[in-house]
Amino acid sequence: MRVGIMGGTFDPLHIGHMMAAETARESYALEEVWFMPSHIPPHKHEAGASGEERLAMVEGAVRDHAAFGILDLEIARGGVSYTFETITVLQEEYPEHEFFFIVGADMVQYLPKWHGIEELVRRLTFIGVGRPGTPLDLAALPGFIAEKVLLADMPLVDISSTMLRARAAEGKSIRYMVPDAVYDYVQRSGLYGTQPRSAD
Ligand code: ATP
Ligand code: MG
Repeated sequence: MRVGIMGGTFDPLHIGHMMAAETARESYALEEVWFMPSHIPPHKHEAGASGEERLAMVEGAVRDHAAFGILDLEIARGGVSYTFETITVLQEEYPEHEFFFIVGADMVQYLPKWHGIEELVRRLTFIGVGRPGTPLDLAALPGFIAEKVLLADMPLVDISSTMLRARAAEGKSIRYMVPDAVYDYVQRSGLYGTQPRSAD
């Protein structure tokens, strides 16, 4: 089975993440895409959501796509999770699966710095999607990495979780920039400094 892994902090999950997963799935015939929220050390992220809250938002959003699922092993394990270690665990558990790791352009440029990247590119293929602000330039990567990065064509989405947290804190709407389930969750729980209120 061909499985995409969509890793991120998802604080909050937004339409850029959803579109990256969907275009990667469609472009490379992935049978499933597993969203994998990473652990964030509490001291690093005071204004952000907890692991449970981020998981709840992702669960709400992936529920209505038959091919999307969730992988909570990094949050469950806590501490720093290197993708390299996570993939090692996954490949032991699912030896028949072929894994593809989906990344936006801002992550692609840092691949050479990833822990264990030499081994990682032997174990999986990356799927890179465009993102405003960073050119998606495979020629800038060392050849052994570039040859393991596939590109998926997606309309650029100029949305980041950082921008959404700021908008919410300023009382601005984030509706339609995040999946409906995420919007509802943020409103109901008053995350990111939004004023809790019932549906509007
Ligand atoms: P933050 O501002 O908190 O860093 P973010 O919007 O960058 O949040 P992350 O959870 O850090 O979201 O990103 C997870 C993955 O999704 C990364 O590979 C990132 O490159 C990709 N990604 C995030 N936003 C977009 C977007 N708008 N378009 C394409 N890819 C994106
Ligand atoms: Mg980011």
